[in-house]
Amino acid sequence: MKNVITNKNFSTERSTALQEERNPATQHNTFISNLRYAIDNDELSLHYQPRFDAISGKADIVEALARWHRPGIGRYYPGVFIPDAEENGLIFSLDLWVFERCCKDLKLLKTTVNPHTKIAINLSVLTCESIYCAQKIIEISKNHDVHLSDIEFEITENTHKHDIRKVIAFCETLKNQGAQFSLDNFGTGQSPLVNLNLLPANTIKIDRSFIHDIGKSKRSEIIIRSLINMAKELNMQVVAEGIESNEQYWFMRDAGCDQLQGFLLCRPIGLDRIESSMLYAPEVEYSGL
Ligand code: C2E
Ligand code: MG
Repeated sequence: MKNVITNKNFSTERSTALQEERNPATQHNTFISNLRYAIDNDELSLHYQPRFDAISGKADIVEALARWHRPGIGRYYPGVFIPDAEENGLIFSLDLWVFERCCKDLKLLKTTVNPHTKIAINLSVLTCESIYCAQKIIEISKNHDVHLSDIEFEITENTHKHDIRKVIAFCETLKNQGAQFSLDNFGTGQSPLVNLNLLPANTIKIDRSFIHDIGKSKRSEIIIRSLINMAKELNMQVVAEGIESNEQYWFMRDAGCDQLQGFLLCRPIGLDRIESSMLYAPEVEYSGL
């Protein structure tokens, strides 16, 4: 039978299409398939933010931060798409995409900016439950002739429950190849002390929310000092993220923090804009604590 388009069924189709467009579930599915397309077609990119040594002011390590540039729409930040990637099983391919791009970028950074550069890569704790991902990481690093001793993985716990035994196996597999680990956003996840006790991490990154409260909350300041003391006892390094003011900078330096990172010192930037001079912290006037 011929498919005749009448005014009636055209308008019915159109209104169904409009309803679907407005339907949050349909919008969500479209977003997810667009994200899958973006991962497969290199629509993602990376910005890098240096982590400066508190004493020497030099940055031998830069953190990779994912960005999604959607043609005709604009740039999405990870806060928008990482949770969806985690919910929909895309986080593994996203984190592996980031890792492979970092391998390519690391070679360039070593030859053009600083031969000692290392890269810190954020990994969802869900990725860290997969031994398959650990093996893929080893395979990709070999393909690109990158030593895993030049990589630190920042494990981002967020709010996900995780199987600690699987995460330990993942970390041990990569640690045996020279990789290092840090506990990101420390103090905010589900089980920071269990992770601290059981995972082979050698660095903690104190969450931005504690740094934000410096000068405003004595409790936060006490927690920060205690975290630093605890890390020293455990022979671990401490990084402060989210340094935005002189006061925060000097507080963390005086408290004995090892590395400092934040907009005050350097914002995340694209690979093409990184210059050697950016790997030296700018002078920060003493704020008088
Ligand atoms: P994070 O690992 O804690 O990264 C720090 C976030 O704080 C970044 O946001 C960075 O741009 C921002 N930031 C840095 N300095 C300052 C500062 O002084 N003030 C303020 N207000 N913010 C600052 P971004 O790039 O939006 O990333 C958000 C989160 O998304 C990251 O938090 C990380 O958990 C996650 N993420 C980013 N890239 C990846 C990735 O490739 N894989 C995974 N699994 N997660 C990623
Ligand atoms: Mg991080």
